[in-house]
Amino acid sequence: MSTSSVSRREFLTSGGLLALAAVVPAGAAAALSNRATKASAPVTPALAQCALGSTGLPVSVVSLGTGPGQAPAVIRYAVSKGVNFIHTSTEYAGGKSIKNLASAIKGMPDPPILALKITWAPDDDRAMDNALKTLGVKSVDLALFNLHNAKDVKDAKYQKGAERWIKAGKFKHIGLTAHGDVLNCCVEALKQKFYEVLMPSYNISQEKEFAEAFAQAKAQNVGVMLMKSRGQLGQEAYLKSVPLYLADPAIKTITKGMTSLAEIDNMLRAAAEKPTAAMRAEVAQLAGAAMTGHCTMCGACTQACPHGVAVNDLVRCSDYYMARPDDLVSARDTLAGLAAGQLPHACTQCGACERACPRGVPIVHHIRRTATLVA
Ligand code: SF4
Ligand code: SF4
Repeated sequence: MSTSSVSRREFLTSGGLLALAAVVPAGAAAALSNRATKASAPVTPALAQCALGSTGLPVSVVSLGTGPGQAPAVIRYAVSKGVNFIHTSTEYAGGKSIKNLASAIKGMPDPPILALKITWAPDDDRAMDNALKTLGVKSVDLALFNLHNAKDVKDAKYQKGAERWIKAGKFKHIGLTAHGDVLNCCVEALKQKFYEVLMPSYNISQEKEFAEAFAQAKAQNVGVMLMKSRGQLGQEAYLKSVPLYLADPAIKTITKGMTSLAEIDNMLRAAAEKPTAAMRAEVAQLAGAAMTGHCTMCGACTQACPHGVAVNDLVRCSDYYMARPDDLVSARDTLAGLAAGQLPHACTQCGACERACPRGVPIVHHIRRTATLVA
């Protein structure tokens, strides 16, 4: 663990400019603080922390996802505001994200807690060592296997690989992340009583669907860190959903790919709000409407496809990345990770995936749209 709760609390109480100066060179700190003053009136509240399940890692309740490949100055700004937990992958932004993160944290006296997604086989020592080397560290606090169907989660090779790497000091704790067959992956991981952290793709419209799994996670002291929590909500409604997420005792942190100082400030303010019944009612209605006809990454379509198309990944590219956050970088990253036979050209438009989809997502439309990126 790279951060003690005491030093982190001291860091938080030192506030704006002092904290900023600790992580950003003087000239850049002045420029950032000027911009921050404009972007963050009134002053952002201190960010709360809580233990990430049985790992005990004292993580900030808003954490940073580096999917968009943020500039090092944005990462440092987030850290200066109390964001002490950062998630990355060698694949984000075509490899740029992990390098930016390495550059951002280099020489920090009190570096953030790091989570690394494992996108390679559980016996691939070379890939693991390369990732750590690129990040400029010998070890990370948490590593997460990136698995998207419950059958893979059952496979004992992942547990064996994690145990071996923990013994070799590559990371201290193991988690699981999923953005396909998400609920079943979480349920299977909880059954195994091996994973200490779950990072599901999840948004507030799925509260009922995930209630039992999250209650189980809480009972087993498995920490939940959310990704893709905005879904299709507008920015204002999303910010109102932040305190609602954090009121769930299973959810320890919201990992968000914040790309600007203003977005960081807004998230911090939202995280300090107290949830109310009125907020809950408004967000429930908005989320229900916003998510109608949109993908929740359950993976049923991929399982239904007779031609091996990576249907839910293609839908994610179109319905999530292209349509909402306007994030072509992440869409291209996703496509780059697929085999040729899983890409849009393998689709015969038979419609089996649409018939299997519980959300009525116009999947074939999304596949056609994703095809424009492959071309
Ligand atoms: S429409 Fe395309 S992606 Fe969907 S099941 Fe048929 S072949 Fe697979
Ligand atoms: S498109 Fe439908 S079936 Fe496919 S992952 Fe999304 S919600 Fe599930």
